[in-house]
Amino acid sequence: RAKSRHRGEHSFFTRDMNVEIEERVKLLHGLRSAFDNERLFLMYQPQVRIESGEPVGVEALIRWRGDDGRFIPPDRFIPLAEHSGLIVNIGNWVMRLACYEQVKIAAAGFPNVQMAVNVSLAQFRHQDFINQVRSALADTGAVAHQIELEITESMAMEDADFVAGKLNELAQLGVKVAIDDFGTGFSSLSYLQRLRVDRLKIDRSFVKDLCTNQRCRQVAEMVIQLSRKLGLGVIAEGVEEADQAKVLLGLGCPDAQGYLYARPMEPEALHDWLAERRARG
Ligand code: C2E
Ligand code: MG
Ligand code: MG
Ligand code: MG
Repeated sequence: RAKSRHRGEHSFFTRDMNVEIEERVKLLHGLRSAFDNERLFLMYQPQVRIESGEPVGVEALIRWRGDDGRFIPPDRFIPLAEHSGLIVNIGNWVMRLACYEQVKIAAAGFPNVQMAVNVSLAQFRHQDFINQVRSALADTGAVAHQIELEITESMAMEDADFVAGKLNELAQLGVKVAIDDFGTGFSSLSYLQRLRVDRLKIDRSFVKDLCTNQRCRQVAEMVIQLSRKLGLGVIAEGVEEADQAKVLLGLGCPDAQGYLYARPMEPEALHDWLAERRARG
């Protein structure tokens, strides 16, 4: 009896795994075809100066609309693209399009709005990465110091010498680097001090409970103080409420990104949003 029950559980487990694998294979096929058929696109979410509401940047965020018209969230397909290596081509495409959009935003009268681009680990490690950044800048005419590449904290901790070297190469190209989702990894501080980065992005998870959870506030405060001591910029992501923005500003965080200000938007909507902000002064 016990044996058959055990066997039953076992086969249930494998069937589950098969479904999981099958689903991933299907998703990957879908992603590949979406990429080939230009069904991936970018949305842009504003970053603002908290005190004045002035737009200071936008983050490019990838979107995939499936055949049935429904969105597949990046948290689902980016890891898959990462494991399959497809991310190298997708990431390069994202970077070029985002650079091109930076040029358009500047031409529309917003030369100081910088463009943040997410970079994945496989992309960052790829031998051609630096060349790809260089040609994205050259081919689009984007201003290097208006492009900010976001790497995650866990990526920054991978292999200290390698990462430090890459970040120096990026610095030579003139692009900026931010550490995304900061506070979620376990950075050793000594090591951060060795890396040539420009800005820390306080992870949404700490912002979310900023006003209700003492520990979240302490983490946010620590990141802000750390950025100041290291001479780095700092921005909070996922700001949804005015109270959160107020607390962040009080703690010394100048910039924020989140639904309180704007959701990720398509280029046309972004341009309207920027123009409207300007009109309001
Ligand atoms: P991320 O880089 O940390 O991006 C911020 C995420 O928070 C975005 O989710 C954004 O839509 C969301 N967000 C912004 N403000 C708020 C808010 O006030 N409340 C809430 N609840 N969420 C907010 P999204 O677009 O779904 O992207 C998820 C993640 O997927 C990104 O996290 C990033 O890690 C990855 N990703 C997105 N686009 C790309 C890309 O082009 N390349 C790579 N490698 N990764 C990407
Ligand atoms: Mg990001
Ligand atoms: Mg982030
Ligand atoms: Mg995040």
